[in-house]
Amino acid sequence: MILRVILTVILLCIATCHSLEKGDGFQVFRVLPTTNQQLLQMIRLFETADTDRADFWHAPSVVNGTVDIMVAPEHTGQFQKYLEKHGYTYQIAIQDLRTLLIEKEGNISTHSTDDAFFMKRLHDDVGFHSRLRMGEYYSYSVLSTWLQRIAENMPDIAKLIKVGTTIEGRDILGLKFGKDTPDKKVVVIDAGIHAREWAAIHTASYFINLIVNSREGDPQIQNYLDNIVLYIIPVLNPDGYEYTRTDKTNPRARMWRKSRSPKACAFDGVRNSCCMGVDLNRNFDFRFSEIGASRYPCSEIYHGPSAFSEPESKAYSQFLASLKGRLEAYITLHSYSQLWIYSYSHRKFTYAPDIDETRRVAAKAVQELGRMYGTKYRHGTGPEIIYAFSGGSTDWAKETLKIKYSYTIELRPGYEEWNGFVLDKNQLIPTAKETWAGVTVVLDEVTNQWKSSKNRESELSRIRQEKCSDRLSGCAYWLQSSPNICRISQSTMIRDCAKTCDLCHMITV
Ligand SMILES: [Zn+2]
Repeated sequence: MILRVILTVILLCIATCHSLEKGDGFQVFRVLPTTNQQLLQMIRLFETADTDRADFWHAPSVVNGTVDIMVAPEHTGQFQKYLEKHGYTYQIAIQDLRTLLIEKEGNISTHSTDDAFFMKRLHDDVGFHSRLRMGEYYSYSVLSTWLQRIAENMPDIAKLIKVGTTIEGRDILGLKFGKDTPDKKVVVIDAGIHAREWAAIHTASYFINLIVNSREGDPQIQNYLDNIVLYIIPVLNPDGYEYTRTDKTNPRARMWRKSRSPKACAFDGVRNSCCMGVDLNRNFDFRFSEIGASRYPCSEIYHGPSAFSEPESKAYSQFLASLKGRLEAYITLHSYSQLWIYSYSHRKFTYAPDIDETRRVAAKAVQELGRMYGTKYRHGTGPEIIYAFSGGSTDWAKETLKIKYSYTIELRPGYEEWNGFVLDKNQLIPTAKETWAGVTVVLDEVTNQWKSSKNRESELSRIRQEKCSDRLSGCAYWLQSSPNICRISQSTMIRDCAKTCDLCHMITV
């Protein structure tokens, strides 16, 4: 508590802050904790800091591991003094974030008139209905309309699904690919649970675009459509995403991470602080609130009042649970750091029983991803490669639904890059392409395993048919005189009268 008071006081607004123009002067500090004490201090700050003042882009994880923090203009002076006072090694990685946003994303359309034109084109141009120009960001309404148009025009391969409704009343939409039969395995891919991670939303949209436009000439995609059921939900947190688009050059809006749930308050040691939003990826019922999450509503990692308190996470967990038993892989796309994360992330060296298989496929996926452009990913559990956290969707899915392959992917750039969430637009398509290459490793595993189990089944069925005969000649007579004999003496009848009793499918081979 004392530390929190000190930190809060340190980050209090200086007198000149109100003269700054909205969004001017946001800086990103790269801090290097070099001792255990500094690391613990940074972790404490990460868990308690108000997002409005200090927003962690790259969380503290290990001694000598960099921490990236976006600091609001009215607090940069005090923050710098604080770092110097405590002997931190640091540099200012981004001098003026607003300028960088204008430079990198300045031509991104967030105007409703542009959206209206795009929607009109989407509606009128029948030949264009399935193709979205990639390398761009789109509003949620454009993305939703696009999903609807695909489902309307390609009912043979895609079906529109509604996972739930957000706190602000938006439908959380996705597409279901492939013909569903009860024996098929299911894969779910989502993105955008964290609002500011636009590259993840673009990547999921790219996957959809690729599937609907390349399927005819791409045997691999056709193979997936024939053999698995694939769900893609490109924006799990549409309220947050739309909020990040309200002012494209204001870091306070653009760098919003949470949902847009109503204000909650908590006493932070100095005052009663009230803020909107919950980190939905800390709100799942897996070791809720244990670690890497915050009970302060103004923190960017605020876990909410209780597990599944939020309509988005609750609805999504119910959707995933409805697929239990068939859901073989679950992949959630985030940015950034170039990591392929698997369970469990709340504590080091805590794994599910099938960790060897999980790790094998992750290693293969990372290798395949890197083959495209040489991008280097690391794989491991949260505490092994980034930091410990609880309440995340993949850990919940792994533990509760026993999903074989449950992965969180942190996309480009690497954690050593200084531009973080502001990915250069010319990196968007390569990011999506290489991620698809990694994801296909998981899709191939699920598809091939299902196909080989089908082959095994049909081979067994063939052998059973070959062996399907009566060992004794009196079977028909027995059945006539005792109609229930096949059921009552089943094991004997499988051996002696399998054909007459229609029990060939139960012959042991
Ligand atoms: Zn994220």
